[in-house]
Amino acid sequence: MENYVISTGNTFVCPSCKQLDQVQKVTSIVSSGTSAMSTSGSTSVRVDGEMRYGSVSQTSVSTTALAYRLAPPTEPSRGFTCNGVTLWTSIAGLFICIGGASASVAFIILGLFFFVLIIVTGSRLDKPDLKFEAAMHEYHKRLATWNEMFYCYRCDGVFTKGSRFAPVANVAEFLSRS
Ligand SMILES: [Zn+2]
Repeated sequence: MENYVISTGNTFVCPSCKQLDQVQKVTSIVSSGTSAMSTSGSTSVRVDGEMRYGSVSQTSVSTTALAYRLAPPTEPSRGFTCNGVTLWTSIAGLFICIGGASASVAFIILGLFFFVLIIVTGSRLDKPDLKFEAAMHEYHKRLATWNEMFYCYRCDGVFTKGSRFAPVANVAEFLSRS
């Protein structure tokens, strides 16, 4: 049988061109992208006895750029959060130290006042960073989709098993709505 038919059930088939010859897993593009080589040169073709020159550049030139465009989602950073408790504990400790050193009751009382403040506000301030948790959750979702992503060189777009196709320019959007 000479007719080679690609099964549409194949996860590697590009939903846009329905072919798999130009499809590559995004993870392997990105991992190989760092060591991409660029090859370019000139070519000459004789047309009607006349030499025509043209420049040739290998597709691997853009591999690094492609790897950059298909880069995995970035992990959200918690950053430095002075969540209040740390700050107030330091202040309270400082006042008690001064109070102890100078034997001043006023400073000790002030220190104790800050401790009370910590107890009152601490429970509220020490709650888990919900914004960060949500960002982390979103990140893991995106990463999971990214790991399942395929790229089609012919169509310059990505897709997953779900047969959805998105142009490479919309990768970020593609990841966020999955
Ligand atoms: Zn395609």
